[in-house]
Amino acid sequence: MIAENIRQVRSELPAGVRLVAVSKFHPAEAIREAYDAGQRIFGESKVQEMTGKYEVLPKDIEWHFIGHLQTNKVKYIVPYVSLIHGIDSYKLLAEVNRQAEKVNRQVDCLLQQHIAREETKFGFSFDECREMLAAGEWRNLHHVRICGLMGMATNTDNMEQVKAEFRSLNDFFHEVKETWFKDEPSFRELSMGMSHDYHEAIKAGSTLVRIGTHIFGERIYSF
Ligand SMILES: *Cc1c(COP(=O)(O)O)cnc(C)c1O
Repeated sequence: MIAENIRQVRSELPAGVRLVAVSKFHPAEAIREAYDAGQRIFGESKVQEMTGKYEVLPKDIEWHFIGHLQTNKVKYIVPYVSLIHGIDSYKLLAEVNRQAEKVNRQVDCLLQQHIAREETKFGFSFDECREMLAAGEWRNLHHVRICGLMGMATNTDNMEQVKAEFRSLNDFFHEVKETWFKDEPSFRELSMGMSHDYHEAIKAGSTLVRIGTHIFGERIYSF
């Protein structure tokens, strides 16, 4: 089942769009099944859960942290994480840099944007993000690399709204690229799209879709 779902999603992705299989709340065996079907990028949203899985699963897996990251937990994932999607403050970016320096790494990060109407979601507003980038202090953080942006659309059946949110994020991505990362080929990721809206996200320019339920089934939150 999982292998089949992976293959089905993969067959739909245009060149240049990568799949992050969101395995949060699913056991290591489920990840192993996806791994055996060729999947290598997995997304997790809890530090302890991701680290536990990292320890028992093959070392060529790329672990993406997609959840809300607390500064006091950064140190646990920095030694091995491939991409942190949810950088939502300068303070968090600076802490990733500090921990990455300790283990002599450069960690790839995305700046999370608040594009949804729900207040519960995290992220910079476009203006906050512009301000942070214009301040320029991030340029001194040599152990992090800002590789793009991430966002979550409103959880709604109104696909016109979802489309508009994705388009606004894509527009902002191009603005940020032009303004601050023009000569940085590594600034190229736009992480958007989940199980119910990834088709819209791809049409709006996503390069990383984060798909959980559609691959692994419903999450059981008591896991
Ligand atoms: C859980 C989660 C996903 C995956 O959601 P599905 O609806 O299960 O595909 C994607 N992105 C983030 C940030 C998540 O927390």
